[in-house]
Amino acid sequence: MSCDFLSLARPGVQKLSPYVPGKPVEELAREFGLRPQDIVKLASNENPLGPSPAVREAIAAALPELTRYPDGNGFALKQALAAKSGVNTAGITLGNGSNDILELVARAFVGPEHEVVFSDHAFAVYPIVTQAVGAKAVSVPAKDWGHDLDAMAAAITPSTRVVFIANPNNPTGTWIERDALEAFLDRVPENVIVVLDEAYTEYVETDDVPNGVDYLGRYSNLLVSRTFSKAYGLAALRVGYGLSHPAIADALNRVRQPFNVNSLALAAALAALEDEAYLIESRRINRIGMQQLEEGCAALGLSWIPSRGNFLAIDLGREAAPVFQGLLREGVIVRPVANYGMSNYLRVTVGLPAENQRFLDALKQVLARV
Ligand SMILES: *Cc1c(COP(=O)(O)O)cnc(C)c1O
Repeated sequence: MSCDFLSLARPGVQKLSPYVPGKPVEELAREFGLRPQDIVKLASNENPLGPSPAVREAIAAALPELTRYPDGNGFALKQALAAKSGVNTAGITLGNGSNDILELVARAFVGPEHEVVFSDHAFAVYPIVTQAVGAKAVSVPAKDWGHDLDAMAAAITPSTRVVFIANPNNPTGTWIERDALEAFLDRVPENVIVVLDEAYTEYVETDDVPNGVDYLGRYSNLLVSRTFSKAYGLAALRVGYGLSHPAIADALNRVRQPFNVNSLALAAALAALEDEAYLIESRRINRIGMQQLEEGCAALGLSWIPSRGNFLAIDLGREAAPVFQGLLREGVIVRPVANYGMSNYLRVTVGLPAENQRFLDALKQVLARV
């Protein structure tokens, strides 16, 4: 290579570690000579139920229009989201996954002169979008693996432009309660945008986790991001959205690619939103699977971080990497989280009961061996 192109990248980009996704089933099948149908993937917090029949039908119905550009304004989906959330369509931004929303916030509002605050052990995309725009990433030490909102508020300086908060957080599963969130929002200056990432909100069944939408009226600097990738079961299609003051949505829509959400994703998301039964079943499967995983871990003498998401961070009390490798050999893909500063932990997505059992059985075997 004649030129060191990485040296041409922005300094923040040079220092970034690329996002590490969960290992695809096909890749593991190739590496270990396994059959894809014998592999269990509990690595990316996807919905184990597969897409709802209503979604498949909506996609089939949208196929004849593939030669046309999608509706760049997502009119029908925004109408449905507005009806469901109570947020006016002018305050809705559609994204190619909610990751797109996070990136739009950085691109629209943050420059090299700014700081972006988030928590240690928080979602890996926050440092990526921050450093990509040349801003300074300020990662605040966590408290009991969760966001320390007092410390995060204290970390805000006149240079801070955005704060990212995940509630519940991935990969820890930790959550922020109503009083703590309100006290934090009260402390944040109005010119600092708070992104409340609620990727797992549809899985929350307890009333100790606030709904960010309830605060949009009171805090005009708040943006709530949501996704169809998790409980709605549409990770492959890439569709998410932001709910905010219309002025924030206006800025995001100026930098957004005109057709960032494709037409199959728009049709599928609309159908998913109307399929309440699928969501109820997803929550039920998650509830029983979470209990199964917790009981299985307890039986193995392992502890975990209590979670309000569809995944569990399990403390192996030792380096998790060899256990992760051992599980791969058993055809079970979970997620190592050393890149989140959690080298003794594995994050496991709640699957179907048989998948959870496969994982627990394999874990027992591997722990006895390595
Ligand atoms: C999975 C996840 C998302 C969703 O990403 P998409 O781009 O919508 O698939 C966002 N935030 C967190 C914390 C997540 O874990």
